[in-house]
Amino acid sequence: MSGSGGPAGAVVEAAPADSGPTPDDWAAAESLLRGLPADARVLLICHVNPDGDALGSMLGFGLGLRSLGVRRMQATFPGPPEVPEPLRGLPGLDLLVPATEAYPDPELVICFDAASESRLGELVDRLDTAGAALVLDHHASNTRFGGVNLVDPRAAATSVVAEQLLARLGVVLDAPIAECLYVALTTDTGSFRFEATTPAVHQLAARLLATGIRPGDISRRVFDTRPFGAVRLFGEALGRARLEPAAAGGRGFVWTWAGLDDLARHGQRPYVLEALIDSVRCTAEADVSCVVKQTTPAEWAVSLRSKGGVDVSRVAVALGGGGHRFAAGFTGGGTVEEVVDRIRGQLDAAVISAAD
Ligand code: AMP
Ligand code: MN
Ligand code: MN
Repeated sequence: MSGSGGPAGAVVEAAPADSGPTPDDWAAAESLLRGLPADARVLLICHVNPDGDALGSMLGFGLGLRSLGVRRMQATFPGPPEVPEPLRGLPGLDLLVPATEAYPDPELVICFDAASESRLGELVDRLDTAGAALVLDHHASNTRFGGVNLVDPRAAATSVVAEQLLARLGVVLDAPIAECLYVALTTDTGSFRFEATTPAVHQLAARLLATGIRPGDISRRVFDTRPFGAVRLFGEALGRARLEPAAAGGRGFVWTWAGLDDLARHGQRPYVLEALIDSVRCTAEADVSCVVKQTTPAEWAVSLRSKGGVDVSRVAVALGGGGHRFAAGFTGGGTVEEVVDRIRGQLDAAVISAAD
């Protein structure tokens, strides 16, 4: 405990839950990486169904480690080894291997953007088989499942934490590293629109842009390009959206859904549905928005968003998932109506009161 050398009788207070890594945490992470033997195998893992922050922070960090001379390194994520089309232009994709080929017992495992072990899917055993486990994340709900945990709930993205660690290690940002971290930062800040967009976020963005990366090209590729079939599929899904103005204590709830047969009819892959929530959450009459996406005949992945009146991470956690206060998710079985009923049952309790 860092305060153990203090004056006799001094009360050592636990750090508040939302404070970031302590100096000891940073030092421990640095020494893990600086102390790596030259031939050490390093395994990078990000969360299942990776988004721009998961892949971007992992690959950007991996490229940074490579620039320091780490040679035996793999990056991976659980489930099918399919990178969503919008992220297929990311630098560093050559680091990726399917989960089935990931080192079974690496000297070091580093986890990115995963709030809990469950987000590592079948790769969770590496936490036990690896020589050491380092966690980089920004979810307030993070369970600190690594031996060393760099978790900063105030950080807008995991890439913010990743960049800080790279800087401490002396990595010089080049354009490929910067592009990965920029994709991560823009993904989790909604292109600098969300509340987490602090002056420090813009200062980081400025450092990344100074490497010469092209924000217009990157944004068009990552956020503003989708197949025509997906445009039509969005039209159908938005056409059946329901608005429930009285839900969530009168703050309003809007939701829609998309099934596997919708994807098949339009010839689309599941990842195209990730952007659907951004069209639904525009609804002026609702604080809470939701998209229910079928992932298997018996399972649905649910995205929840709030404009600030409801803590949707409480809803998600109560239903077996997690996330941030205003952007959260969970997976569940049953019919769409049953899934939505379960959400309705949690909304009132998650309304943020003046006392919160
Ligand atoms: P999404 O709606 O998939 O963009 O996810 C929004 C937020 O909720 C992200 O921070 C995710 O990490 C988190 N999240 C989504 N699904 C789950 C889940 N099944 N379990 C835990 N956290 C989740
Ligand atoms: Mn993520
Ligand atoms: Mn994130």
